[in-house]
Amino acid sequence: MPLRIEAIPAFQTNYIWALIEGKDCLLVDPGSAAEPLDFLAREGLALRGLLLTHHHHDHIGGVDEILTRYPVPVWGPVDSRIAQVTHRVEHGDRFTTDSPTLDWRVIETPGHTTTHIVFVTDQLALVGDTLFSAGCGRLFEGTPEQMQHSLDRLAALPDDTVIYCAHEYTRDNCRFALAVEPDNPALKARAAQVDKLRQAGRITLPSALGEEKTYNPFMRTREPAVIAAARERDPDCDRSPESVFGVLRRWKDNFG
Ligand SMILES: [Zn+2]
Repeated sequence: MPLRIEAIPAFQTNYIWALIEGKDCLLVDPGSAAEPLDFLAREGLALRGLLLTHHHHDHIGGVDEILTRYPVPVWGPVDSRIAQVTHRVEHGDRFTTDSPTLDWRVIETPGHTTTHIVFVTDQLALVGDTLFSAGCGRLFEGTPEQMQHSLDRLAALPDDTVIYCAHEYTRDNCRFALAVEPDNPALKARAAQVDKLRQAGRITLPSALGEEKTYNPFMRTREPAVIAAARERDPDCDRSPESVFGVLRRWKDNFG
């Protein structure tokens, strides 16, 4: 049966992804319970499990309430801050969900938090707050070195991997990316497309990994134009991907 994936909006910018096969559903990072519970009822779906990428409240805040209604398995990182996880998974672990029928692989991506994980199949990646379209997560707990390494792990996936990010940040991210690479044609095209989508009230996700590599500055820390922009911003930048990443991340953190 084909897999259908829907975005359930929550809070200001979050998407709770619903993976649906027939009448069976997995939910990803339910930071809130009301919206996904409404969605399940409206669509007549049976919840079969939860996948959690990291401990932030806007990703797990709805878990307790959902579990009182649906006592389903919960896959998540080895992190005592997420008490509800029933199946703790680490880098390289593989597991199967029965409904939807999917074979998963786990990639650890420290940086946004120390224990952030990404769930991958041969077609898609649930990237949480590690990767956004045209951007990446803030470094709340990790270092630039860790995050660069985490993004390198994601970059090694096939280019046609479909990327499901947890926030609608694409428009602001494009604005920053254009400050880094104002002459990048792929970025200009993506920014124009995103403007149109948002003006029409539409979602900008999912994205594709291969496309992110053409315009996402945080996946382009080895590109001469991005290195040059980082060194102009901070002459101490030493041209290494980690150093370029660190400059970009600090620049973005202070970008108006
Ligand atoms: Zn987060």
